[in-house]
Amino acid sequence: MNEKTDIRQLIPTELEAWFEAADEKKFRVRQLLEWMWTKGINDFNLMTNFSVELRNKLTAEFDFQRITLINQQISADKTVKAAFRCYDNQVIEAVLIPSDDRVTVCISVQTGCKMGCTFCATGLNKQARDLTFWEIFEQVAYSRREASLRFGAELSNIVVMGMGEPFMNYENLTRAISLISGTPGFGMSPSRITVSTVGIPDMILRAADEDAKFNLAFSLHASTDAERNKIIPINKKHKIDDVIDALKYFQQQTGGDVTFEYLMLNGVNDSPDDLKRLISLCCNFRVKVNLIPYNIVPGLPYKSSSDEIIDYFVASLSKKGIIAIRRKSRGSDIAAACGQLAGTGGKSY
Ligand code: SAH
Ligand code: SF4
Repeated sequence: MNEKTDIRQLIPTELEAWFEAADEKKFRVRQLLEWMWTKGINDFNLMTNFSVELRNKLTAEFDFQRITLINQQISADKTVKAAFRCYDNQVIEAVLIPSDDRVTVCISVQTGCKMGCTFCATGLNKQARDLTFWEIFEQVAYSRREASLRFGAELSNIVVMGMGEPFMNYENLTRAISLISGTPGFGMSPSRITVSTVGIPDMILRAADEDAKFNLAFSLHASTDAERNKIIPINKKHKIDDVIDALKYFQQQTGGDVTFEYLMLNGVNDSPDDLKRLISLCCNFRVKVNLIPYNIVPGLPYKSSSDEIIDYFVASLSKKGIIAIRRKSRGSDIAAACGQLAGTGGKSY
């Protein structure tokens, strides 16, 4: 591991102090921030409006703990799964998903996940560390370049639905998002950023109070606490009603969209009673429902519900006036679909 400090750890006032001590003009700090966050550059040698002397001074003291692309797999449907090695050799993944009218990237926030949901590949690695805000940001910087090179299009949407639980890494998540959507930064519209969470009410309330600029998706996946406890261990601590109350508050405070994600697990949560209860959870709440076919994870005992049952759920919800869509599975032939990311660096299971 490298001994130098990643320069992105310094806040602007610390940078100003460093530049002053190095006998450099203050406006260089603004230029540095623009290089790093607006242009997405993480190499002092590419900062061409800096003198060689300044670049050398910076290099002597600081570095960039970059994520390095180590593998790219392209699916038959053009989905790209990118694996990156972090400075400490951990491997994380991001998935770029082109469709007719948009290019979406699904990014990771941790190197595994401690939540231990029984159906998820990421949850198999419980030795998770939080990604830094620049490791989250760099996944987006890569995706913007890749979207333009590969698809001739702009990256339009970001979903935080890769490895890890965003609200267990709140500070880095929100710092990264403010750089992705702000100035200096990529200036992307926050309405095109969706954060998916297993449901941590106190953090959802905090995001609401801080006027978070993103949409939320809640991984509901079951209609009773008893059922949800079995597949999502954290539910024993954070009950469905508490999460929903927090989501309502979030919606009220921020105006962000809220979606329920509902994984369709054969024989687990797809009975007519489950459907009735799911419908009642959506009452009195402006919420959309995403029904997600289960993607197989080898070694885990689940199967997806049949197409008929998923279609029946969609139709029944729609009949009640609830916007419901079946999520298309993308990239499943390269294990790039939801819940299949495991930081294996592109090796198949
Ligand atoms: N930790 C967050 C975000 C990452 S998981 C969360 O749980 O919401 C992103 C989504 O993929 C979640 O809705 C999760 O429940 C779902 N998922 C996990 N394993 C899956 C699988 N095998 N097939 C389909 N979706 C899965
Ligand atoms: Fe973690 Fe989300 Fe997977 Fe659960 S579904 S183990 S919270 S990444």
